[in-house]
Amino acid sequence: MSKVLIIGAGGVGRVVASKCADNPDVFSEILLASRTKSKCDVIAKEVGKGRIQTAQVDADNVPEVVALINSFNPELVINVALPYQDLPIMDACLETGVNYMDTANYEPKDEAKFEYSWQWAYQERFKEKGIMAVLGCGFDPGVTSIYTAYAAKHHFDEIHYLDIVDCNGGDHGKAFATNFNPEINIREITQNGRYWKDGKWVETKPFEIKKALNYPNIGARNSYVLYHEELESLVKNFPTIKQARFWMTFGDEYLTHLRVIQNIGMSRIDPVKYKGVDIIPLEFLKAVLPNPGDLGENYTGETSIGCRIKGLKDGKEQTYYVWNNASHQVAYQETGTQGVSYTTGVPAMLGAKMVLTGKWSGTGVFNVEEFDPDPFMAEIGKHGLPWNEEFNLDLEV
Ligand code: NDP
Repeated sequence: MSKVLIIGAGGVGRVVASKCADNPDVFSEILLASRTKSKCDVIAKEVGKGRIQTAQVDADNVPEVVALINSFNPELVINVALPYQDLPIMDACLETGVNYMDTANYEPKDEAKFEYSWQWAYQERFKEKGIMAVLGCGFDPGVTSIYTAYAAKHHFDEIHYLDIVDCNGGDHGKAFATNFNPEINIREITQNGRYWKDGKWVETKPFEIKKALNYPNIGARNSYVLYHEELESLVKNFPTIKQARFWMTFGDEYLTHLRVIQNIGMSRIDPVKYKGVDIIPLEFLKAVLPNPGDLGENYTGETSIGCRIKGLKDGKEQTYYVWNNASHQVAYQETGTQGVSYTTGVPAMLGAKMVLTGKWSGTGVFNVEEFDPDPFMAEIGKHGLPWNEEFNLDLEV
């Protein structure tokens, strides 16, 4: 029986709140706080089952978060606001002695970096305070990291090749929309790609490496190598990995829109003077694009995300594919939002449960693959994200 504070009331916050409310034996009291309280109130009303309190907080403001934590006394703060808020919320957790969890690495506002350095720098301070920070407990990072840890624990003595494959085979009927926060999404995919090869990073131009990969129940989709943050911690935590790549699918229509957005300067993250006011083009673009949280109603199709792994077991070569397929419509029927928010929010709730029930424990800053994957893998299916595995496939990557 534990109190949890959820910060952020977007698509992911909605799913985390809904799923925590479904599990009262673990989450005895839930406070959902965000910049706009009315959004928390809507979530509480629609999916809170009468169990969610709400509050307003500016999570960029450490004293405000500290005051909120002190007034509610949670055991864990689940941060599903934006990556910009990671450090202020970690600071507030340190000051109040409360455990921390998030689903995305810290990002400075003015520079797209996608690296853990800032958060890993909190290691000693979290240790000294006797609390834990769990980084990246969504789907990717999150479940993909746990799949890798599960493979390493049960099926490999050495992992040599890791390909994380992320397919959204869904259709939301809009000409262009992103599936999670547009600002973060567009920053992520427009920067240079990177993958790990023989002990160092190989840089690629955006969308330079392309291959049609086959996804279960979806078929062949054009997939592109891009950099994704879990690669950084996975190659550190599994040093036998010789090559680690992240693949994501994009349709031609999406890429055409993206190219135009870039060419006309709308993906810029530096300030531009407009009528005497500084505006960030990408922030403005977010304001006119569809809200990812509202895409669910007409969203058809499935996501398919998994890990394709090659390595050695008992001296023999082994291949392994572990994945989840999630239906946008099933996610919408259950939580009122689409599959990408769902596949992020469910693992965040379950990771929180792992921490609060002591299945994941320790002090300091952790990426999720550092914990025992078994209790998480045993439960994730019954919370809505069942997984499948296949051995000795002829993997295409
Ligand atoms: P949204 O933009 O839909 O929601 C973000 C929420 O955070 C909004 O409610 C917003 O408030 C709130 N917020 C923003 N700034 C502040 C602030 N200063 N103080 C308090 N609240 C604030 O994003 P998503 O729900 O799509 O994504 C949430 C997080 O999940 C992101 O960090 C994203 O990167 C991550 N993510 C992780 C994935 C994974 O698999 N690991 C996949 C998808 C997303 P307001 O409504 O007022 O704007």
